[in-house]
Amino acid sequence: MATKTYDAVVIGAGPGGYVAAIRLAQLGKKTALVERESLGGVCLNWGCIPSKALIAAANLVEEIRGAATRGILVEPPRVDLGKLRQFKDEVVKKLVSGVGQLEKGNGVEVLKGTATFVGPTALEVDLGGERTRVEAPAILLATGARPIEIPGFEFGKDVWSAKEAVDVPEIPGRLVVIGGGVIGLELGTVYAKLGSKVTVVEALPTILTGVDEDAVRLVQKGLRQRGVEVHVNAKAKGLERRPEGLAVGIASEGKDQLIPADKVLVAVGFRPNSDRLGLQAAGLAPDRRGFLTVNERMQTSVPSIYAFGDLTGPPFLAHKASKEAEIAAEVVAGKKSARDWAAMPAAIFTDPEVASAGLSEEEARRQGLDPVVGKFAFAALGRAIAIQHTEGFVKVVADRSSKLILGVTIVGPEASDLIAEGTLALEMGAYLEDVALTVHAHPTLPEAFMEACKVALGEAIHALNRPERPRKEKAGASAEA
Ligand code: NAD
Repeated sequence: MATKTYDAVVIGAGPGGYVAAIRLAQLGKKTALVERESLGGVCLNWGCIPSKALIAAANLVEEIRGAATRGILVEPPRVDLGKLRQFKDEVVKKLVSGVGQLEKGNGVEVLKGTATFVGPTALEVDLGGERTRVEAPAILLATGARPIEIPGFEFGKDVWSAKEAVDVPEIPGRLVVIGGGVIGLELGTVYAKLGSKVTVVEALPTILTGVDEDAVRLVQKGLRQRGVEVHVNAKAKGLERRPEGLAVGIASEGKDQLIPADKVLVAVGFRPNSDRLGLQAAGLAPDRRGFLTVNERMQTSVPSIYAFGDLTGPPFLAHKASKEAEIAAEVVAGKKSARDWAAMPAAIFTDPEVASAGLSEEEARRQGLDPVVGKFAFAALGRAIAIQHTEGFVKVVADRSSKLILGVTIVGPEASDLIAEGTLALEMGAYLEDVALTVHAHPTLPEAFMEACKVALGEAIHALNRPERPRKEKAGASAEA
């Protein structure tokens, strides 16, 4: 068997691995990147990117349907599924080939195959039949995670994971979504906009557990408006295949119920891809749930092995994996990098979108801080009214005495873009005054962040500065300006 040697080998070419390989090469390391499927991983091939292409297309369908309210009269839209799929595939292809060019341009050697450890600094790579031994003093693991399958709901033609759903094989008449988390609601919304009757089954008492309660309320309203039925406290129990279609058995608050369906989307979380790496041969053991434990420098307990991204546990965010990848690459290259961000933003592409960075009001209280909150509704913002997207708000949480910004939550139009200013404010250690003093172009959506900061300071121009209401003792019901 041939042996190849490198300074560093990265396994997995998702937004963690492909970034690590580029950064290592930039820092002068002879680097190999091993990937058995397509460059870009889940994010580019069947996650973030294709789902956003579909979300944009579904939003367009909805805009066209509502165009008459703005005096634009058009025929009801029809969807050419082949064309939609082609559009989505072209978006993916463009980005995947871009990653390939970046790796090549930086001198990274891409090995198309499956890597397994044979020692702490050695791998065997199956390059489609031909095996090669690959040795490196640093091995970086970025193998990500995959959708969890539930018994009785094995993925296939009728039961989709996100992977099948983003391929839009059809627009089912009735789609049952198991899991009211991020994927279930993002893709459920797409299918509802494209014409499916969508039913969401969520085991916990609320959809989007852990997200700001006010934000969840608005997402629920958005789902209702699109005819999406949501069952909470409801667990999917089994799938029946009948001549007239599928039926999903659910147990909801002690009662059993059957929901008819044409297709089922299962989105109940991710599990790490740590089970087929031969970790034992490297002297590494994952935790009980399969995740690898790392320190703030992305180092595992084996000095030659680094890990980052989904493989090291939630939150499962592409941008978190990329950031950690840069840190790992820099540590391998001898730099003093470590995980030290002030805030890790999160964005949920439902309708309305939800985005957040830093602490929520409740988290701030739990940490013993005394927060002041400023909330500004898009319904009072010129640009939001002009584009007919007035749902939602910007909420800023700051320390009451110093006015240091602690967190930002945004629900509404372009929340996923708007959170960038909040994240920058947190990273720069900005105070409410810093944002309030920054001139924001008018009429734009980011003005809502400036206004929220002014509300918290009691200096709002486009909202009435009411005295704070006394805080009720219920979570999320504290005084807001
Ligand atoms: P999730 O963890 O967001 O949601 C899964 C939901 O399924 C949970 O609410 C859970 O209570 C529910 N559930 C579990 N078992 C169930 C059952 N038997 N019956 C009914 N409900 C059940 O997971 P996901 O939506 O699959 O997404 C996977 C990961 O990818 C998440 O961590 C998510 O944050 C991440 N992701 C992020 C984005 C984004 O940042 N925009 C987009 C897609 C995915």
